[in-house]
Amino acid sequence: MATIVMKFGGTSVADIERIRHAARHVKREVDAGHKVCVVVSAMSGKTNELVAWTREAAPVHDAREYDAVVASGEQVSAGLMSIVLQEMGVPARSFAGWQVPIETSDAHGSARITNIDPKLLFDRMSAGLVCVITGFQGVSPHGRITTLGRGGSDTSAVAVAAAVEADRCDIYTDVDGVYTTDPRIVPKARRIDRISFEEMLEMASLGAKVLQTRSVELAMAKKVRLVVRSSFDDPDQVPPLGENGDWQGPGTLVCDEDEIMEKQIVSGVTSAKSEAKITLRGVKDNPGVAAAVFGPLADAQIVVDMIVQNISDDGKSTDITFTIPDAEFDKAMTVLKEAGETSLEFDSISGSKGGAKISVIGVGMRSHAGVAASMFRALSDKGINIQLITTSEIKTSVLIEEEYAELAVRALHTYYGLDMEEA
Ligand code: ADP
Ligand code: ASP
Ligand code: MG
Repeated sequence: MATIVMKFGGTSVADIERIRHAARHVKREVDAGHKVCVVVSAMSGKTNELVAWTREAAPVHDAREYDAVVASGEQVSAGLMSIVLQEMGVPARSFAGWQVPIETSDAHGSARITNIDPKLLFDRMSAGLVCVITGFQGVSPHGRITTLGRGGSDTSAVAVAAAVEADRCDIYTDVDGVYTTDPRIVPKARRIDRISFEEMLEMASLGAKVLQTRSVELAMAKKVRLVVRSSFDDPDQVPPLGENGDWQGPGTLVCDEDEIMEKQIVSGVTSAKSEAKITLRGVKDNPGVAAAVFGPLADAQIVVDMIVQNISDDGKSTDITFTIPDAEFDKAMTVLKEAGETSLEFDSISGSKGGAKISVIGVGMRSHAGVAASMFRALSDKGINIQLITTSEIKTSVLIEEEYAELAVRALHTYYGLDMEEA
């Protein structure tokens, strides 16, 4: 029999009725004889509400207490899921992160899982119990409650799956798999049957929030078999996993590239809004100048994304442009102006909020030239101006004005032949 981790996201546990529905998926696997760990998110909207309360209590506050507050949503879901399972005759108990324990770093608000001792989970599963574990949270080396960053329950699920050597980690959510682009923005998006870890990693980090980026990183590193599927399916109409955890039901399998027969040049299109752009002009072109710009930003915990440095005309000075989240714009401007008075020489600084990063992703790009050029052409045909460009082996990203994001995604989706055929 197989060991399965089943993760249910916020919409899938939004109220008691939905929790009952999700619990029926769990019961199906238990009845088939599998050992099951369940990982739950907070009920949808709950985490946002908790975050807002901490801000209302004090705009700047103790990150440890922020975690104590926002982690509570998952505890409610875990308890309710256990109650509902018990009522269905399925032996179950809830575990908070610290009870497992899910050990993490002490980076409150975006902690990393460092270790999960599976002993307790093995014991309880062997005794026939479903272990219902709070997603999103863990415990720091100082014994404090931590959280893993928004969307972190996916990462909890994959980490638990790796720890208990699960045959499968099923991410049940409000869509029935990973799509070529966000199906809520492009109704013609197509569900992908199999996607490689590399492509999924790029899609997640470039804006497809269906999986948290770290969960994909971890699944790739630990070789966890990861499936994204719908919690809204009728639990009695989809088959349980086979004896060895083999896959029979619907959804998207995230797997090694060599398990995918047909490789697409472009597999997906993503957009990430709220990107701000900052340009430093006339920066002295000396060794160490990039470190002088980006060091203070890193010290201020500001994550920089796209970076472009121009070659100067005179060989003495250069222009540097980069992007950061809109929310960090004011802080970054202040940090750089302060650096300009001490360690960094430049002529002027300017910037703006409200950009969108649009990306096309596909492993086929490795062996096909010209994807970037065709992307630029498709955007220019729609009159969309490109402000910045970055590329890697399997993706090309451009920064454009936010108001054109949807138009750009739809245009590229059609251009690369990803639209679903009309019925
Ligand atoms: P959960 O609460 O279950 O974790 P999320 O809201 O975090 O669910 O993620 C699911 C959502 O991700 C979907 O409702 C969909 O709008 C969005 N999404 C964005 N890009 C994609 C994509 N490429 N494929 C599928 N869903 C996507
Ligand atoms: N409840 C958390 C959030 O909303 C974690 C998660 O849902 O994955 O970010
Ligand atoms: Mg999520």
